[in-house]
Amino acid sequence: MEYAFCGTSGLQLPRISLGLWHNFGYTDDFEEARNMIVHAFDQGVTHFDIANNYGPPPGSAESNFGKILKENLASHRDEMIISSKAGYLMWNGPYGNGSSRKYLMASLNQSLKRTGLEYFDIFYSHRYDSTTPIEETMQALIDIVKQGKALYVGLSNYPADKAREAMIYLNAQHVPSLIYQGKYSMFNRQPEEEILPVTSEFGSGFIAFSPLAQGVLTDKYLNGIPDQSRAADPTGFLRKEQVTEELVAKVRKLNEIARDRGQTMAEMAVAWTLRDERVTSVIVGTRNVKQLQDNLGSLNNLRFISEELALIDNILGG
Ligand code: NDP
Repeated sequence: MEYAFCGTSGLQLPRISLGLWHNFGYTDDFEEARNMIVHAFDQGVTHFDIANNYGPPPGSAESNFGKILKENLASHRDEMIISSKAGYLMWNGPYGNGSSRKYLMASLNQSLKRTGLEYFDIFYSHRYDSTTPIEETMQALIDIVKQGKALYVGLSNYPADKAREAMIYLNAQHVPSLIYQGKYSMFNRQPEEEILPVTSEFGSGFIAFSPLAQGVLTDKYLNGIPDQSRAADPTGFLRKEQVTEELVAKVRKLNEIARDRGQTMAEMAVAWTLRDERVTSVIVGTRNVKQLQDNLGSLNNLRFISEELALIDNILGG
C-alpha cells in the first residue's frame, strides 16, 4: 500500500480506502463482508468509510463493521482510520435528517453505539443543508472533536462556495476540515474545476467516492447487465437506465487503453482518479474479495504518460 498525507495535516491515508455503502448491510453476505474487511486491512487498507445510513437497512453496515472489528481486528484499532457521517435521512421526524446540531450529535452517538467505538477518526457532515445555518453545523463538528468523539472532521457533498464558508469557520476555530469527500471519476470530473481548488487553498485533503462510477467503469457492463451487479439490484443506487449505451461505448474504448497498459478497466479507472496529486485517496466499494484485489492491483501502475491522458480526455469528451 502507498500512503499520502491528507492535505497539510499530519495524517496519512492509504491511496485506496474501502467504503461500506453497499454490500455490508444485513441483506448482504456477512462472511464475504468480513473477508473483504480483513483482506483489505491485511493489504494495508487502513481506512474504512461508513455512514449512519449505510445498509440496508440503514445502520446495519455500522453494526456489521462493529461486529467484525470486535471479532477479527480488535487489537488493531489504533492502526485504523474509521469514518462515519450524518446528513441524509436516518429516522423520521425533524431531527433525523439535515445538518442541525441536534441531528449530528444524536446520530453520532447512535453510530458510536452501533460500531462499539469510543470515537471515530473522521466525522463528516454528509451534505450541505440550506435550512441550517452553516455556523450551527460547523460548531457542532468542532464540539464533537472537543468532546473526544471524533479526532478530525470532514465535509462531503458541499457546493464549493459553501465548503469555502465552512472551512473559513472551522479554521478560525482551529479545527480545520481534514478532508472533503466528493464524487470523482472519469465520468464525473466536476471536482477538478470546483472543489479541488478550494481543498488545495485550505490545505484540506480530498477523497473520491464512486471512482468506478458504481461499477460502470469496469468491464462488467460491456455485454449487458449481469444478474450479479448493482444495476440489476433493486435496492442498489445504480439504476439500469444509468448504464447507457453511450457510456458503455466509452468504456469499451477506455478498456482498450487499459489493456495496452496491462491493466483491467477497473485498475485504470482507479489509477486515473489518483493521478491528480490533490486527491489523497479513493474509496472503492466492492462486493467480494476478488473485486477488491482487482482494484488494489491499480497500485502496480499509477503513472500515465501524456499521450494516454490525451487519448482518455478525447474519449471522455467525445
Ligand atoms: P465504486 O465506484 O467503486 O463502485 C463500487 C461497485 O462497483 C461495486 O459494488 C461493484 O458493483 C463494482 N465493482 C467494484 N470493483 C469492481 C471490479 N474490480 N470489477 C467489476 N466490478 C467492480 O464505489 P461506490 O459507489 O461503491 O462508492 C464507494 C464508497 O464511497 C462507498 O462505499 C462510500 O463509502 C463512499 N460514498 C460516499 C458518498 C457520499 O455521499 N459521501 C456517496 C457514495 C459513496 P457490483 O455490485 O455491480 O459488483
